Amino acid sequence: MADSKTKKRCSFCGRSENEVGFLITGMNGYICDSCATQAYEITQEALGEGKKSAGATKLNLKELPKPVEIKKFLDQYVIGQDDAKRFLSVSVYNHYKRLLQKDSGDDVEIEKSNIIMVGSTGTGKTLLARTIAKLLHVPFTIVDATVLTEAGYVGEDIESILTRLLQVADYNVPEAEQGIVFIDEIDKIARKGDNPSITRDVSGEGVQQGLLKLLEGSVVNVPPQGGRKHPDQKMIPVNTKNILFICGGAFDGIEKKIAQRLNTHVVGYTASQKTATVDKNNMMQYIAPQDLKSFGLIPEIIGRLPVLTYLNPLDRDALRAILTEPKNSIIKQYIKLFEMDGIKLTFEDAVFEYIVDKAVEYKLGARGLRSIVETIMMDVMFEIPSEDKKEYKVMLDYAKMQLEKANMARLQTA
Ligand code: ADP
Repeated sequence: MADSKTKKRCSFCGRSENEVGFLITGMNGYICDSCATQAYEITQEALGEGKKSAGATKLNLKELPKPVEIKKFLDQYVIGQDDAKRFLSVSVYNHYKRLLQKDSGDDVEIEKSNIIMVGSTGTGKTLLARTIAKLLHVPFTIVDATVLTEAGYVGEDIESILTRLLQVADYNVPEAEQGIVFIDEIDKIARKGDNPSITRDVSGEGVQQGLLKLLEGSVVNVPPQGGRKHPDQKMIPVNTKNILFICGGAFDGIEKKIAQRLNTHVVGYTASQKTATVDKNNMMQYIAPQDLKSFGLIPEIIGRLPVLTYLNPLDRDALRAILTEPKNSIIKQYIKLFEMDGIKLTFEDAVFEYIVDKAVEYKLGARGLRSIVETIMMDVMFEIPSEDKKEYKVMLDYAKMQLEKANMARLQTA
C-alpha cells in the first residue's frame, strides 16, 4: 500500500515510473517523456496558430509612406532617375492599397501591377530596389535571374525565388504572400531562339513559363530550405497572387530598337506628332513594351509586367553627384573610415572632377567610381593609421600619381 503512494507517477497521465521511459521531476510533481513530447507539440501548434492568426503585418494606410514621401526617401540615396523613382513609389504605394482592399467589401478588385525597370548596368536599378526595401513594411528580397534554370538542370528552380521571401518573412506564410520580390537581370532568361539543340535551352522558355506562373498569381509549392539538396523537405504552399514583382534588366541595345520603332512608325496622327518632338539624346524615355519583345521575353511575361519604366545612362554630372551627394556616398564612406582613426579626411575639389573624368574615359560607370577612389586611397589607408596625423587632404597631384602608378587596365576589368 505504502508502495503505491510513494511510487513516482507522471502528474499528467498518472503512469508510474516503470510504465514510462523516464520522469522529469518538478517542484510538486513529475512529467513523463511522452507527456513532455505531447506538451511540446501542443505548444508548437499554439504558437504556430498564434503566428498565423496574427497573420500578415497589420497595415494602416495612414501610417504608410505616401508616394511623395517614398520618392523623397529615394532621393537621399539615388541620384537622378526621377521617372523610375516616381513609378516605383506609386507602385509600392498601390501595392499597400491592394493589400488593404480586402476589408473594403465591394466588388472592385485592385489587381497588382508588376514592374519592369530597363536601364544599362550600373545605373541604379538594384540600388533603387535596395533603398526601397529599407522603407518597406512588407518582406522584400532580391534575386538574380541568371541562376534560374528549368527543374532538373544545374542552377536554381524558379521556386527558390519564393524560398528567399519565406526566409525574410521568418517563414510566416501570410506575410510572405504580401511581399515584394526584385528580380535582377530579367533579360538574361531570354529564349535563345537559334540555340543548337545539343545544349538545351535550360535557362530560356522553361524558366519564363515558370516565372509567368509566379507573376500571374498561383499557389506554388516552395521548398523551405531552397535548392535541391534537401529532397525530403516538406513543401510550403505559397500563393503569389498578392506578391509584387519588380524586374530589372539592361536590355543592351534597346535604344536602337526604340529609335527604329519611332522612325518606322511615322504613319498616323499621334506618331507624326511624336516624331516631331523626339529627343534623340534620350531615347529611353520613349520605351514601350513592344521594344522588349526582340530580347527573347515571351509576350505573356511582358503582358504581366504592365508598369514599364527606364533608367537614364549616367552622365558626368550624375557621376559627380554620386561621388559625394547620396546619404552614404563613396566619399562620405571614406571620410567615416578615417574618422574612426581620428583623422579628418578632406579632398581638393579638383580630385572629384579627376575621378569622374577617369570613370568616363575608361567607361567604368558608377561602379568604377569606387574602384578609382579605392586605388587612390590605398597607400594612405595603409600608412596613416600608424602615423600621428589628425587630418589628411587628398590633392590632385597625389590622386593622379596614384592612379598612374596603378594599372588602369586592371580597373577596367574590375
Ligand atoms: P544596376 O543594378 O543598374 O546594374 P546598381 O544599382 O547595382 O546598378 O549600381 C551600382 C553602384 O553604382 C551602386 O552601388 C551605387 O553605388 C552606384 N550607383 C549607380 N547608379 C546610381 C545612382 N543613380 N545614384 C547613386 N548611386 C548610383
